[in-house]
Amino acid sequence: MKALMYTGIGNLEIQHIKKPDGPYLVRVIGCGICGTDLKTFTVGHHFFKPPTILGHEFVAQLVQVPNTSSHAVGDTVVVAPYFECGECTSCRSGLPQLCSDKHYVSSGAFCEYVALPDDYEAGIIPLPDGTDALVFTLVEPLACVLNGIDQLRMRPSSTALVIGGGPMGVLFALYFQDIGVPVTVVEPNAYRRALIRGWGIECIEPTEADYSRHDQIIITVNQAALIADAVRHVANGGTVLAFSGLKRHDTFEADGYAIHYRQVTVTGCSGFALSHFQNAYSMIAANPAHYEKLITHRLPLEEGLEAFTMLKAGNAFKILLQP
Ligand SMILES: [Zn+2]
Ligand SMILES: [Zn+2]
Repeated sequence: MKALMYTGIGNLEIQHIKKPDGPYLVRVIGCGICGTDLKTFTVGHHFFKPPTILGHEFVAQLVQVPNTSSHAVGDTVVVAPYFECGECTSCRSGLPQLCSDKHYVSSGAFCEYVALPDDYEAGIIPLPDGTDALVFTLVEPLACVLNGIDQLRMRPSSTALVIGGGPMGVLFALYFQDIGVPVTVVEPNAYRRALIRGWGIECIEPTEADYSRHDQIIITVNQAALIADAVRHVANGGTVLAFSGLKRHDTFEADGYAIHYRQVTVTGCSGFALSHFQNAYSMIAANPAHYEKLITHRLPLEEGLEAFTMLKAGNAFKILLQP
């Protein structure tokens, strides 16, 4: 099969490799390029050592299912790239997103076929007829956002400031818009600012941001210093959510005065639990138009390198690759 192989920092190439085999086999229809994929391409990632196939935000068609499955060959589905075991210490403590024994798909999805183990039933959601299937590539990123939302301590008077107007930042903004929480996005790139404003979301330059007007600050940019800044200036009783992945030894200086005297909370999150994935699916199924606008480009897998380069230069928003 055809695969877009990540062969090292800055390198992606189409290779023909052996088709996987598994109790479930899916044919990929489209897969979104995520910030993590872009980071891996740009600076490398300790989870994704080359050569490997990236991509985990995908919709697919089932081409093979085990006898025991309630899913049928031919179904168009969105597949969770992983989900929790339900039995480890984290799962039993009500923290399935921190599961230490997750079920996984066979590889990344920037390729034609992905295999899934036979216990993967719960990680597969059939898509409704009549909707553009590709909008459901946003289920995985929205699931990560819903996990982040769960970590906030919002009050009826809350207002949110989202640092970073990439797809994740905008998914947060769309969520806040949906539930009626005033939200402002901070984004240095003029192309993105114009797009985001066009979607009816307030979007400002970093120099215009006034942290003290907001009690919920979401950081979707991987710079630890931004967390320190947000803790110092967030409104009383505020929450600072370190959403973007940081490096293993990243540290920042926390303003102890803000944490103690102003009841500021710093928290973080990574990934999702199956419940977030299911909720994200339902939200998109209920209002696909609200999310679809984030997808600015749909390109063939062969143009993968160009797509990553375009994203790196900040000239696109969400790009899907289609094998
Ligand atoms: Zn992702
Ligand atoms: Zn577990």
